[in-house]
Amino acid sequence: MRYEAVIGLEVHAQIHTCSKMFCGCPVVADTGDVAPNIYVCPVCAGMPGVLPVVNSRAVDIAIKTALALRCDILPTNRFARKSYFYPDLPKGYQISQYALPLAADGYLEIDSGGTRKRVGIRRAHLEEDAGKLYHDGRVSRVDLNRAGVPLLEIVSEPDLCSADEARAYGEALHEILVYLEVNTGEMEAGVMRFEANVSVRPEGSELMGIRREIKNLNSFRALRDSVAYEIELQSAALESGDTVEQETVGWDEDAGVTVPQRSKEFAHDYRYFPDPDIPPLEISRKKVESLRGQLPELPEAKRARFVVTHGLSAYDARVLAEDRAVADTFERVVETGVDAKQAANWITGELFRLLKGTDRSIGELDLPAAALAELIELVSTGLINRSTGREVLAEMVSTGRRAPEIIEARDLTQVSDIRELRGVVRRTLDENPEQVQEYLAGKRQVLGWFLGQIMRATRGKANPQIARELTEKELENRRDQ
Ligand SMILES: [Zn+2]
Repeated sequence: MRYEAVIGLEVHAQIHTCSKMFCGCPVVADTGDVAPNIYVCPVCAGMPGVLPVVNSRAVDIAIKTALALRCDILPTNRFARKSYFYPDLPKGYQISQYALPLAADGYLEIDSGGTRKRVGIRRAHLEEDAGKLYHDGRVSRVDLNRAGVPLLEIVSEPDLCSADEARAYGEALHEILVYLEVNTGEMEAGVMRFEANVSVRPEGSELMGIRREIKNLNSFRALRDSVAYEIELQSAALESGDTVEQETVGWDEDAGVTVPQRSKEFAHDYRYFPDPDIPPLEISRKKVESLRGQLPELPEAKRARFVVTHGLSAYDARVLAEDRAVADTFERVVETGVDAKQAANWITGELFRLLKGTDRSIGELDLPAAALAELIELVSTGLINRSTGREVLAEMVSTGRRAPEIIEARDLTQVSDIRELRGVVRRTLDENPEQVQEYLAGKRQVLGWFLGQIMRATRGKANPQIARELTEKELENRRDQ
């Protein structure tokens, strides 16, 4: 018998706000070197008698995200108390949304083996993060810096059928969240965490299999690998006539297996009830439409436009649109009149290679689009050749200086003057009669060696095309002598 997987994903995305969800404490990046319990007040520490106040900026960001995911925004939201007891949760409950979430019924399109697939979004709601526990021998410590940090939970329909689809969904969602600046997208900093519900059933069956939940996945690879592992494990169990046990598991990255978790959410009854301290949140049509108007062009639309209006390949369009700052740089370069394909080549080729070495993103460089456009023009008009262009770009990235300045300071102007270059070619051939004979005897690859010599003689400034033409011509001339 063949089996098919049914997978749904829950994603917790941190919302990048200045302050926490229900109090004024600052939200700081989880860098590990922040002292514990500094960013804590009576509200997020769960003291009695305090009143939470909803962070309206977090609500706005969440609405925009839900709109990008084509969700309906519910006109009335309610915050609810989700009760459970754990030392990282000072109130004894988490403020979340239950019966009336922020948004519902959306979808996200993913690429599944070359075709587009629509994955339903069941709901998206706001909630607060818990604190952190540190276990140190026999002592456990609680850090509440994270307690109350705003989160957006996005729950998909169980529309995913494979580990690769789960990963593709995670990546597509990540791309949108970063585009909308919901957070920085730094997975290793925990700004986006996945939970996967995986079940397996005989192919074509309408019944749902027993569902197992994989918690706390914080990389795309962990997401894909753990889901693939569970599909195999559950299929093998059914194949051999065993039953699949319903449980919550974690992913052991090193061993490559899922392991049953001692879940803090052992109580399945969270006793949800509306939080009496927070009035219902009314979201007007007008507000929704105004936020919709603020949505940037999303990656999907941008890719399509790059192909249609700039004539880029699907590949180039995808690579450029992946990062909003990169896409913006590309468009600003093209606006100056630079050929789109040239601009795409320089950005995805040379510039990406340089960025890899610097550990910086394109937005962090002191490289205005106009300066990049200027360099590309200098190469395409032949003032400098391509390899000199690469050197100049590297210097522009490291020093912030403009191309003409670097070219002048280092006397890098390309030698295109035919008479000057012909002199160099003739001298090179005169000095190497043996190689000339080899070439004339049919060893064509000697031409490359000559070009190398000519480049060296001109310190890399010879226009390669003109140098090649001249050298071939001079060599042929010598055949007739
Ligand atoms: Zn606080």
